[in-house]
Amino acid sequence: MKDFRDKTVIVTGASSGIGEALARHFAACGARVMLAARSLQKLQLVAGSIRQTGGVAEYCATDVTSEQECRELVEATVRAFGGVDVLVCNAGLSMRALFDEVDLAVLHRLMDVNFWGTVYCTKYALPYLQRAKGSLVGISSVAGLHGLPGRTGYSASKFAMTGFLETVRIENLKKGLHVMIACPGFTASNVRFAALTADGSSQGETPRNEGKMMTADQVARIVARGILRRKRLCLMESEGRATHFVKKFAPAFLDRMFYLVMSREPDSPLK
Ligand code: NDP
Repeated sequence: MKDFRDKTVIVTGASSGIGEALARHFAACGARVMLAARSLQKLQLVAGSIRQTGGVAEYCATDVTSEQECRELVEATVRAFGGVDVLVCNAGLSMRALFDEVDLAVLHRLMDVNFWGTVYCTKYALPYLQRAKGSLVGISSVAGLHGLPGRTGYSASKFAMTGFLETVRIENLKKGLHVMIACPGFTASNVRFAALTADGSSQGETPRNEGKMMTADQVARIVARGILRRKRLCLMESEGRATHFVKKFAPAFLDRMFYLVMSREPDSPLK
């Protein structure tokens, strides 16, 4: 269980869902964890409960859409722990609306959080990750493997993350940096409640049965194992593996399957 002993790990979006589960899991595996998100009170609670169980955790209120705050997050981590071994760019936001109807501000917002948040954190953590020959991890999605209808901005932001992270991987081929893209499928969390609708307001409810999804803890374990094995791509359940495989051989069939699945959601924007 002490696989991350003496490693310093930054997790963005650590106040909820997958990020919180990752932070707890890394700490349980011996890491020093820096938690980042906007909600200071939630970060304090998560860090406090990690410390109560003997873990090492600090937190830094960070809005990942602010380049300056991402720089300060990395600086605070280096001040507290002396370096960065693993950066997990997990902070994320989703949406649910047809492109015909969506306010373009929604797409800008998703790119700001999901894509630019990843770029800013990577920019300032990279020298430390290179020094440590560490791991740069992006939490993408099955929607980052194939376009998900009703989620144009979300899929676009996750595809953009992939293009960015793949290129960083190749640029660092001779420097020992590990870059992993993780693609969870539907996972029970707050993401669908916070997802933006066509006018940019939060959805406030989930259109899917959260009880039938993977748990954030399961995702965290698989991501941590992927880091230890220095995988390039971390697929974690049948949805992810099937999407990755079918896309190669029958992409038009996959289009129809994605349409069918998403059109069956209650109040689906797909008519
Ligand atoms: P949650 O909504 O539970 O968590 C999202 C986290 O991101 C929160 O900690 C939130 O914290 C943080 N966040 C949002 N906006 C910002 C911001 N501007 N700056 C800093 N932090 C921010 O969702 P999940 O745990 O499900 O999502 C985590 C990641 O997993 C996302 O990237 C998501 O796209 C991805 N994912 C999720 C899936 C799912 O079904 N749950 C499936 C596939 C991928 P705060 O509000 O305090 O800032």
